[in-house]
Amino acid sequence: MNKIILPGATLGVLGGGQLGRMFCTAARSMGYRTLVLDPDQHSPAGHVADIHLQADFQDQHALARMAAQCDVITTEFENIPADTLRFLARSTNVFPSPEILEIAQNRQAEKQFALKAGLTPVPYFAIESQDDCTLAQAAVPFPAILKTTSMGYDGKGQQLVRQADELMMAFQIMGKRPCVLEKKIKLSSEISVIVARNADGDMQCFPVSENQHIQGILHTGIVPARINEKISERVKQQAFKLAQSLNYIGILAVEFFVENNKTVYFNEMAPRPHNSGHYTNDACVTSQFEQQVRMICGLPPGDTRLLSPVVMVNMLGDLWEPNWWHILQHDNIKLHLYGKNEARQGRKMGHYNVLDTNIESAIDTAQTVFSKIKNAIVDN
Ligand code: ADP
Ligand code: MG
Repeated sequence: MNKIILPGATLGVLGGGQLGRMFCTAARSMGYRTLVLDPDQHSPAGHVADIHLQADFQDQHALARMAAQCDVITTEFENIPADTLRFLARSTNVFPSPEILEIAQNRQAEKQFALKAGLTPVPYFAIESQDDCTLAQAAVPFPAILKTTSMGYDGKGQQLVRQADELMMAFQIMGKRPCVLEKKIKLSSEISVIVARNADGDMQCFPVSENQHIQGILHTGIVPARINEKISERVKQQAFKLAQSLNYIGILAVEFFVENNKTVYFNEMAPRPHNSGHYTNDACVTSQFEQQVRMICGLPPGDTRLLSPVVMVNMLGDLWEPNWWHILQHDNIKLHLYGKNEARQGRKMGHYNVLDTNIESAIDTAQTVFSKIKNAIVDN
């Protein structure tokens, strides 16, 4: 029997961004206390937590305090040092484990693990030296994408390599850091699955989201995804397999590429709630954040049923401040803002979920509202 952590206990989060904020909100509405560790005094999660420990992720004094006060600790972004998790895990429960975090922090390790679990990563070649560049030219078709092996997010640390003779230069531009070179897939769609697993091995996944990106950053999520049932089933099974092979506890987001409407490739995973799961806040019986609380506390997974077709649209700092009227006049739009004090280009400031009886009209409304926001900003 695994340990069950009941309401009244304190749940800790490493990282104070919007994912941590929505986790804290879900935890508090279930009667838990929350503690956030983040160095930023204006962190979105710090504002809504019971306790904000304003300290660095490697501050051992703060980590010891956190471990002493929390019954269980989770993360909201994957670039926390794995040693931080190791330190905390000596005296309290920590999910994901440091080992899983390390796999998810490294594109090569992540692809190898996915392959071992029976998934198919995008064809790739690992590059650590100029000699590897020569070998990669024969191994991966072009155009290709060169990605740093670690620390990439929201399309950062990536470069398009149109043809073989551009590779060496691209590797130099990346500072000769370890990279992976991936075949550039002709995407018929991008999709993601968010799977939940607890210590008893109970698993549940949310409906597949169809994701549209602009410049490497998620722009829109469409649920139900407009893909055939076979693909939907296949990616769910693959996400379950991955969670099981990792002996995972918590929420795991798995991104896939679909080629020619039939070939499915594993892209990457995130050991935490995911931007493409924000639709669950309003359109599912259980949100991904409540599910994260349930999983790390050893509770049964909540119902992931979709209650309504939904389209999620991200709002970045590029379009700030929007005319709220464009959004709030629609009675079928739910607005979520992260309380960030400064809008910067590419920074995620909030999102809205459009709920409608059919997905096409939800897409229509989502697009119309987004165009209005954009045009209003451009006109200013
Ligand atoms: P991250 O989300 O960590 O920034 P991803 O590897 O998911 O990195 O890349 C971001 C986006 O760039 C993807 O969602 C996809 O739109 C595009 N992309 C990345 N790799 C490929 C690829 N191999 N083929 C086609 N598109 C890609
Ligand atoms: Mg991604």
